Amino acid sequence: AVPAVPAPAVFSARSVLPVRNGGEIRITGVSKSFGTLKVLDEVGLTLRPGSVTAIIGQSGSGKSTLLRAINHLERVDAGFIAIDGELIGYRQDGDTLYELKEKDILARRVDVGMVFQSFNLFPHLTVIENLVEAPIAVRGLPRAQALAEARELLARVGLADKADAFPRQLSGGQQQRVAIARALALRPKVVLFDEPTSALDPELVGEVLDVIKELARSGTTLVIVTHEIGFAREVADQVVFMEGGRILEQGPPSRVLAAPDHPRTREFLAKVL
Ligand code: ADP
Ligand code: MG
Repeated sequence: AVPAVPAPAVFSARSVLPVRNGGEIRITGVSKSFGTLKVLDEVGLTLRPGSVTAIIGQSGSGKSTLLRAINHLERVDAGFIAIDGELIGYRQDGDTLYELKEKDILARRVDVGMVFQSFNLFPHLTVIENLVEAPIAVRGLPRAQALAEARELLARVGLADKADAFPRQLSGGQQQRVAIARALALRPKVVLFDEPTSALDPELVGEVLDVIKELARSGTTLVIVTHEIGFAREVADQVVFMEGGRILEQGPPSRVLAAPDHPRTREFLAKVL
């Protein structure tokens, strides 16, 4: 049996707020190496329910690996991650190892939606079929209900008229909006975005950021790896700067982006702004 993850000894004022929608993510002492390369180095981070966190940092700093660890697409070497106090995947505690069974990992993953840089839609399925597949297979929804929910989600991302199109018939921005709707179709508590606008032509970035902004107001916990600093400033409650697998600095955008403490954060921002 997997024990409940104990609360850390020190709470921030925010993390003891009652959980309503859920979606509190607690990352504790997470490390991960690929061979001799340490990609995550004792990362600790708490995201309160409904918050929006922007993760920034140079290429190779471990941002994607951290996101993948939250979804247990990446198995960590040490430390653990919990969503609403429920362990994700695996925890090494001294000599004791707790590991969820594959079916429990899959069940837990329903809480976490993921949106990738490259959309990853099923090319052979229409937009609406892309959206109903997982709710039918994973949530066990009747097809009629899955279709009704999918239409609602498409309307929410401004694509009600594209239900029967194939992904190749859509612009990159439209495909990414479908990918966001698909991530929402499992009603996740948390949505992770890995550079969701990096593959888009500049004129298509805004429509995708607008959808994410709307989502930010809805109470779903969001984690967004992004190089869009203006967007992070506007939408994020918390900005996290990573380098070399470590969190060098974290805090509200008004401080981290405007008056960073760490010289490496300042250097990074000078390059991307
Ligand atoms: P970021 O998203 O910040 O660019 P990543 O988390 O993708 O960084 O990668 C961090 C480091 O880990 C990089 O040096 C990358 O090459 C390496 N890395 C990522 N995934 C793997 C893997 N599956 N095998 C080996 N090295 C990897
Ligand atoms: Mg990355």
